[in-house]
Amino acid sequence: MFQYQYDLFVIGAGSGGVRASRMAAATGARVAVAEGSAMGGTCVNLGCIPKKLYAYAAEYGHGFEEAQGFGWQSERPALDWGKLKSNRANEIGRLNGIYDGLMDGAKVSVYRDFARIKDAHTVSVGGQDISAERILVAVGGWPYVPQIPGRELAITSNEIFDLATFPQRLAVVGGGYIASEFASIFAGLGSQVVQIYRKEKLLRGFDDDIRGFVTNEMAKAGVEFRFNNNVTAIEQTPNGLLLQLEDGEQLEVDQVLFATGRVPRTHDLGLVEAGVELDRHGAIVVNDHFQSSVPSIYALGDVINRFQLTPVALAEAMTLVNQLFGDGSRTMDYEYIPTAVFTHPNIGTVGLTEAEARDKYGEVIVFKSEFRALKHTLSGSQERTFMKLVVDKASDRVVGLHMVGAEAGEITQGFAVAMKAGATKAAFDATIGIHPTAAEEFVTMRTPAKA
Ligand code: NDP
Repeated sequence: MFQYQYDLFVIGAGSGGVRASRMAAATGARVAVAEGSAMGGTCVNLGCIPKKLYAYAAEYGHGFEEAQGFGWQSERPALDWGKLKSNRANEIGRLNGIYDGLMDGAKVSVYRDFARIKDAHTVSVGGQDISAERILVAVGGWPYVPQIPGRELAITSNEIFDLATFPQRLAVVGGGYIASEFASIFAGLGSQVVQIYRKEKLLRGFDDDIRGFVTNEMAKAGVEFRFNNNVTAIEQTPNGLLLQLEDGEQLEVDQVLFATGRVPRTHDLGLVEAGVELDRHGAIVVNDHFQSSVPSIYALGDVINRFQLTPVALAEAMTLVNQLFGDGSRTMDYEYIPTAVFTHPNIGTVGLTEAEARDKYGEVIVFKSEFRALKHTLSGSQERTFMKLVVDKASDRVVGLHMVGAEAGEITQGFAVAMKAGATKAAFDATIGIHPTAAEEFVTMRTPAKA
């Protein structure tokens, strides 16, 4: 009887692909994964992990200054960019090794090459054709840079971690997660940063108060902004790069980072030829079971372009494996996904923005608090913290929680559990605070904000 070589062939060993491979293999399925770049994908190699390491490095930049108010006296130390880069590279190398070990341990066959789909049950990789009952595409996304003259002079988040020379003058184009994070990080590391965004407020899709507040805080921490503006051309000069802006301004910088979105990496994979439907952004169209228009081909993570977040890809992978090789009881729930933006200060958010909540529930009650964190009473920093709760009036359920402040991501994760469990404002009020913390403010907000 004919047997496929594998029960599941996964293309891409990033967050979603690795999780799906391991979990499927653990059920006894015969699994292979193909990866042409480093193991771990964007998050481990060029995203979340190196970004967070650099964000920690940037925090020291602020910390050395702030320490003086607490009695620590010294010159501000200089950044050794080369050392930061090599320590980061070593750590990422260690993680790559762990991923290799995980695959070995799970008895997943690893093909260290880029794979291409040949037909509904065949993948070509490294010159061989391999058959599989099911194929999972988890190839992620790739930075998008608009077509402007000189775009080849720009860098993206793929290149920024390893720049040969530290950029003393950095322009960042875009107003999303990546642009805002790198603007903050490089300002903290000591660059003179200008962030250029085509509209009037950063971070479209976030709560309006958060967007305004974080912009002010980032500005205090050294980021300069150009709103309602864009880069129309880039030219090499003897001293750097000359950026032509839409309003006529010219800016000379050492590097220009384009963080203008990421697109699904679906070109040249044989998808269209195999009959897999893509949407207008190139994302693979899948149903609730992550199944594409070709029933044996599945996709998840950034390549389906729902939420470009590692923990979402992991959850999608667990759901798919449960549906294909488990009892099929698990479904993917995209409600109340918490997220953080590692700007300085951080943003943490879960649930609906005030505007979304008003649309969905009609009457909502909003609570807001803004204060200077205890630490900054001595640090001399003018940084302020902002917190906001959005409550559905009819049910008393807290449907939105938003914060700008130190460790906002850490704080939001815990509250996300409560909100997922349906916590009401009464439950928040009945919770005892932890003193003195910033987080306690979320359980002590008593007076609704004026509409
Ligand atoms: P985003 O989609 O978040 O932001 C892209 C930005 O680029 C937007 O401000 C957009 O403007 C702007 N833009 C798009 N096209 C152009 C153009 N032609 N000219 C000028 N500006 C343009 O993408 P990112 O690249 O920042 O991040 C990709 C995804 O990665 C995020 O959506 C997020 O899900 C994920 N991510 C998550 C992180 C985290 O969890 N901390 C960290 C980093 C990334 P406009 O708003 O007008 O469309």
